[in-house]
Amino acid sequence: MLMTATYPEKKNLYRLPYSLNDNPIGWIEATDICNIKCKGCYRLIMGEGHKPLEQIKEEILFLRKWRNCDNITLAGGEPILHPDIAEIVSFISGMGMKSVILTNGLALNDDKLKEMKKAGLLGFSFHIDITQTRPEFKKEKIKSELDLNDLRLSYAKMLQKFGFYAHFGITVTSENLKEVPELIRWAKDNILLINGISLIIYRGLPVMPGVNYYAKGQKVDMDLGTLGYTVDKEEFNQIYVKAQDVYAVIKEHFPDYEAMGYLGGTADHTSFKWLWGSLFVNTKGKTFGALGRKTLELAQTVYHFTHGTYLVYPKKRIGKIVFIMSLVDPIVRKALWKFLKYCIVNPLRFFYPMKSLGIGMVQAPDLLEDGRIDMCDDCPDMCVFEGKLVNSCRLDECRIYGDLLQIQVEDNALSKEKPVIEETEIEY
Ligand code: SF4
Repeated sequence: MLMTATYPEKKNLYRLPYSLNDNPIGWIEATDICNIKCKGCYRLIMGEGHKPLEQIKEEILFLRKWRNCDNITLAGGEPILHPDIAEIVSFISGMGMKSVILTNGLALNDDKLKEMKKAGLLGFSFHIDITQTRPEFKKEKIKSELDLNDLRLSYAKMLQKFGFYAHFGITVTSENLKEVPELIRWAKDNILLINGISLIIYRGLPVMPGVNYYAKGQKVDMDLGTLGYTVDKEEFNQIYVKAQDVYAVIKEHFPDYEAMGYLGGTADHTSFKWLWGSLFVNTKGKTFGALGRKTLELAQTVYHFTHGTYLVYPKKRIGKIVFIMSLVDPIVRKALWKFLKYCIVNPLRFFYPMKSLGIGMVQAPDLLEDGRIDMCDDCPDMCVFEGKLVNSCRLDECRIYGDLLQIQVEDNALSKEKPVIEETEIEY
């Protein structure tokens, strides 16, 4: 069956107001050391080890000054392994910014969490997926992403004791797209423990005849393994999931979900590089609706007016108070009606706790058939490399070649058959 994706309407979305110069997120690569290996990891272990504390502080000050950040994301490698991680977090807190750590969780324990809480960390975004080489996996037979939900939940419970923000990032391919609804169902059933899910679409840079790579004007040899995300022709042709495919699957299973904000692509006007929305869920697992673009626009504008930066990672979780936005936001109004009808049947239902679950899609850079790379327009995840801002997903090109790669694609080299995404019931 030929499939056509469901595209969210741009008029119903708020284009996040981020830019190169005024962007709520700054990205720090604290280390290139990691304690596990993940397929498609953006970062190669090149023996650089932990970045010196003074250099990290300089980068934080750079990001604060030139990006006007609300939050610093600490990544790597595994940032928890950095010996000065508590001091780095304290330094960020001292600058009046929030911080979130991207982690695989393996090195976390109660003592570490206590230390991070004291330093002022907001929370963690976990990357746990089936492609990883984790010691825990040896004990079990892991056949699908869903088999990892108990492990994810154990981390969410650890965080709850300390009141941390808990987020989970999951890599989506055409193979596991069909598991997305169950993953969301799992998050929904644990709404008090989980703040959000990011569905990160797997990407690959092809190593194949007709695709030529250049750095600083010189042709470079590209092999599988030169970068963490290089793939062969066969695998490249299998990667065909786009944010709108994921959106369509979510909408089909959770009609109450709405995307409210987006960032488009730098080269392809049809791409949604960041697509973000929410789902109101109560502790009985009942969904009511979502936030709309008007709430997001108002929140960003008011926050910028009052704080001088755009908002990312709100410190407090939104509960029923959000229904006040029904005054201006028709999407929230719809949710309020559904909630009221639900409560009329049994007024006690009003008191069941309700939270918003953030559900976002990130479609990392795509190589287009003409050799252009479609990046996230006004990339939020920029880091510092030799005094310049660089997209963190392409940092390794700079580490290896000193600059971002240019790509020349010979005619029709990238034409590929669009594979059918199995077992989804998206209408086309
Ligand atoms: S372009 Fe920026 S936001 Fe997009 S995947 Fe790369 S680092 Fe992340």
